[in-house]
Amino acid sequence: VLQSVGFIGLGNMGSRMANNLIKNGYKVAVHDINCNVMKMFSDEGVPTKETPFEVAEASDVVITMLPSSSHVLDVYTGQNGLLHGGILLRPQLLIDSSTIDPQTSRKVSVAVSNCILKEKKDHLEKPVMLDAPVSGGVLAAEAGALTFMVGGSEDAYLAAKPLFLSMGKNAIYCGGTGTGSAAKVCNNLAMAVSMLGVSEALALGQSLGIAAGTLTKVLNTSSARCWSSDTYNPVPGVMEGVPASRNYAGGFTSKLMAKDLNLAATSAEEVGLQCPLTFQALEIYTELCKDGHESKDFSCVFRHYYSGKDE
Ligand code: NAD
Repeated sequence: VLQSVGFIGLGNMGSRMANNLIKNGYKVAVHDINCNVMKMFSDEGVPTKETPFEVAEASDVVITMLPSSSHVLDVYTGQNGLLHGGILLRPQLLIDSSTIDPQTSRKVSVAVSNCILKEKKDHLEKPVMLDAPVSGGVLAAEAGALTFMVGGSEDAYLAAKPLFLSMGKNAIYCGGTGTGSAAKVCNNLAMAVSMLGVSEALALGQSLGIAAGTLTKVLNTSSARCWSSDTYNPVPGVMEGVPASRNYAGGFTSKLMAKDLNLAATSAEEVGLQCPLTFQALEIYTELCKDGHESKDFSCVFRHYYSGKDE
């Protein structure tokens, strides 16, 4: 049913996700404010549209993959946005895969469900929206190996599942609107804190005379074992193929981590929950970015924060 897909936001992640939809036989039309990336797609014969509204006119479902909340609000509710004039001509389903705060996801979802659907199809009376952010970076996007965490109506989730599985290997239904965004923000908060914990322990261990490689062996066979210690170790030379072993190039940037911690901190304040580690982690990543390490992988916290070395 959902064969014509509009894709908006063709950056590092979105361009690869759109390509995987095309490979899987979907009819895709795209839009981005960056003309160069639009040209890349039109050179491949993919229809490009000048505005989000034009994408909506041409699609059964629209997927957005944008930098942050303000861009999502703009693409949905701005001038010539997806919801322009409060009437959706065609798409019954809108999916936002950007990492944004759950409050904005809910706000946009309300705006979507307040729209009138011009062409009613199937049993759907109203257009619906899913928040469906992803875990996995550019490599997983390229390989079609992302994990989607999805909030919104379960029927809509089931209808969209084939789309998710064309771009990823897992799709997890999280509950009502905003819970997909909440899951993403919480995952990255836990990842930041575990990275800081492992970095702090390995830095202290070195100062106390135990080599990082040896302490890592201990951690990985003991109760502190986690992704940051056994898969993404932050100390140069301890593991091969991780950002730490290539001067923290590639991977998940400190800038994106600071952005996601900001979302967690804002959400915690909004619900009045004390989250001291979130705020401490946010401070550390903000400082790293200010010190010029914003484009390095977030595991660079080991070298630039704990060891204080700049090279
Ligand atoms: P990106 O900056 O590479 O791409 C964003 C794209 O959106 C750009 O091409 C930009 O031109 C376009 N854009 C911005 N405003 C627009 C507008 N108003 N209309 C149309 N297009 C617009 O970002 P990315 O790395 O692809 O990340 C996208 C989202 O995915 C972010 O929310 C990010 O936090 C999240 N994410 C990223 C990664 C990662 O490793 N890069 C991993 C998981 C989740």
